[in-house]
Amino acid sequence: MPMDLEKIEAGFRMILEGIGEDPNREGLVKTPARVARMYKEMLAGMENDPAELLSTTFDEEAREMIIVRDIPIVSFCEHHFLPFIGKAHVAYVARDRVVGLSKIGRVVDHFARRPQIQERLTRQIADFIDEKLNPLGVAVVIECEHSCMTMRGVCKPGSTMVTSHLKGLFHKQSTREEFMSFINRGGK
Ligand SMILES: [Zn+2]
Repeated sequence: MPMDLEKIEAGFRMILEGIGEDPNREGLVKTPARVARMYKEMLAGMENDPAELLSTTFDEEAREMIIVRDIPIVSFCEHHFLPFIGKAHVAYVARDRVVGLSKIGRVVDHFARRPQIQERLTRQIADFIDEKLNPLGVAVVIECEHSCMTMRGVCKPGSTMVTSHLKGLFHKQSTREEFMSFINRGGK
């Protein structure tokens, strides 16, 4: 469903009124429209078509581990509607199909750019790759700093939440350790 920008604008105008601001003063008059366009961009995963993601695959015999490390993530905590920002590491062991590296980043974006919680985001990425590529195993690790933790409430800047979801071969300790050693190598 396409986003209703006018509705977002009207809603944000009400937020401005609610906090005691004058939405018609010069500095704010265009803000609701800007905020609506910002949400459209930030939450673009709501609008794009998952059928197109990972639709182009290549046949490949190699049963090696393929790792894409440090994929930037910007997502939105659905409880506070504040961003959580960090990176994802995605690995899979191909059964017979692989995809281009940039495609993995697009899958991450598709699920990240919507109201989310980090645990579900991690699982959705793993499940989607599992379903589309039918690999021998998938692993997704996500590390993010949550604005709702760093800007409000307990206010703990710098604390990072780490979530992981492992499927198939990655339940084997040796495979999991290989993956972890790759994502920890080189640090940042
Ligand atoms: Zn939150």
